[in-house]
Amino acid sequence: MEYVYLDNASSTPLCQEAKEALREAADGVFANPSAIHRLGQEARKRVEAARRSVAALLHADPRELVFTSGATEANNLAIRGVLGPKLAAGGKIHAVTTAIEHSSVIETLRALERRGLALDVVAPKGPSVRAEDVLAAVRPETALVSVMMVNNETGSVQPVAEIARGLRKLAGRVLLHADAVQGLVSQDVDVRSLGADLLAFSGHKVHAPKGVGALWVRRGLALEPQATGGGHESGRRSGTENVPGILALGAAAERLSRERRDDVERYRVLRQRVLAGLAERRAGAKPLFASEDGIAPNILSLECPGRPAEETVIRLGAAGVMAATGSACKSGGRDASPILLAMGVPKERARTVIRVSFGALNEEQDADRLVDALSSLA
Ligand code: PMP
Repeated sequence: MEYVYLDNASSTPLCQEAKEALREAADGVFANPSAIHRLGQEARKRVEAARRSVAALLHADPRELVFTSGATEANNLAIRGVLGPKLAAGGKIHAVTTAIEHSSVIETLRALERRGLALDVVAPKGPSVRAEDVLAAVRPETALVSVMMVNNETGSVQPVAEIARGLRKLAGRVLLHADAVQGLVSQDVDVRSLGADLLAFSGHKVHAPKGVGALWVRRGLALEPQATGGGHESGRRSGTENVPGILALGAAAERLSRERRDDVERYRVLRQRVLAGLAERRAGAKPLFASEDGIAPNILSLECPGRPAEETVIRLGAAGVMAATGSACKSGGRDASPILLAMGVPKERARTVIRVSFGALNEEQDADRLVDALSSLA
């Protein structure tokens, strides 16, 4: 059966550019980029070219990028790298985050809480946090604020630039970390105008392979490395570089820089097509959020009344349509997503919400297949 893949917020298929980069790497770029012989230097050249491509995507200086194994590691490096030494030095250290962060942020902060960090977790008002609520939680001893750009479960956009502006007005130096994994998909991220200090992202959400990502670190910012060893990545992340992954990430970053506008337009068209189709067919499924304002165009939360989200997703899967429950269902249970609950969605409704997420490779017929499958569930 031909399938339709609508779970791009979870992971994306490789784009042609990333595939070609992987093929090239497989065929010849195998030497260690730290080796001084010709093949090693060739690998180094390719890695540095990929670094420039990723930097261009962010309007950043290539020297500010640290390649990692993905966003989980990048988020850990950012948070532990900033807060670890301060906690070790003793004294009162405080951080602020939100109730809708990815587990790689919230669980890392919770781990540091057990080592003495004081943590405030700001609740959203509806799908997004308010900048003023985040700023109100900042205290004189606040060292780090961590807010994601776009929520992975609902696509809700968070006011990171506004928070950065607010932080700059406060006395003292509060660092701002942003999980940009989903943000990069639909937003033109310029690290200078955004005003954050640390930005984490992942290859496999932008049509590059799994197991590669990066952390952008504002120049001059001291970060305690979490992986020590040979001093790779300017001493910030030791370990021989994932050369094929990095080359593919560079290629996917070039594609995204060039085509993001078209991608976004495509997501809008697909979203409208799904919504119009569902309304026309009276399929029962409807958008969770009445307004599309402040919601990234590639993620669509659909309420599918009458059955738990897991069941809807399984039945869609049987019909060849890959969608997701809002959150990766950890326990296998049927609990409502804590993220949706935090966003104020009542439990009974939250239990029925599925996530549809478009990618750059989706086409209009994929939207139609989803509408057909949802319509025939009734
Ligand atoms: N942050 C967000 C918002 C995500 O969606 C994900 C991926 N689920 C991650 C972090 C973790 O990324 P990775 O899979 O590269 O570790």
